[in-house]
Amino acid sequence: MRKLDTRTIVVASHNKGKIAEIAELIGPFGFLAKSAAELNFEEPDETGTTFEENAAIKALASAKASGLPALSDDSGLVIDALDGAPGVYTANWAETADGTRDFAMAMEKVEKALADKGVTDPKDRAARFVSVLCLAWPDGHTEMFRGEIEGTVVWPPRGTAGFGYDPVFQPKGFDTTFGEMPSEQKHGWKPGDATALSHRARAFKLFVESCLEA
Ligand code: IMP
Repeated sequence: MRKLDTRTIVVASHNKGKIAEIAELIGPFGFLAKSAAELNFEEPDETGTTFEENAAIKALASAKASGLPALSDDSGLVIDALDGAPGVYTANWAETADGTRDFAMAMEKVEKALADKGVTDPKDRAARFVSVLCLAWPDGHTEMFRGEIEGTVVWPPRGTAGFGYDPVFQPKGFDTTFGEMPSEQKHGWKPGDATALSHRARAFKLFVESCLEA
């Protein structure tokens, strides 16, 4: 496992919601971090068929463009009753004809797909959020960290916090959606904590333990 020996990195993302969450998670570690969006790096095509492949594509593109280590996140919502969809295509389900993303529409699409399968009972609406973080160096070395959080897809959407599909995802053991949680509660983790809640915070905890701690 390669350690990170610099605190200057690129956050290899163009997604505002993710960039904000990663900024919060790395904040306490004193990083000087710029995002690929701020650096005007082109958004690479996500041609992989797994979260790991797409995370590597994004992190390697930013590491090579910047000459610095780069941290990416590839994530998505995996719904059992939809055979794992939208999965790696979670962002694509939000794409509109004019090339923008509309997550209210994407959540409706998910609900329609579940309704088409006749899935209404909460116990049949199990899902998980997956996040794979990839730390890549300019020489092509990569390290990957996967975090998952189990929960249920609810309808109608609830809450305005977070981003993406947060208003329809209720993590197991909670009666609020991620959209109803302040971000500290969604992360459920700060440095030194033994557990984390969100998929991204769980992956980030592994990254800290593997690449930052001595
Ligand atoms: P990608 O990783 O860029 O392919 O996009 C993943 C998509 O999954 C995002 O655009 C979000 O819509 C969704 N997603 C990933 N993580 C979260 C989360 O923490 N909350 C809500 N939606 C998420």
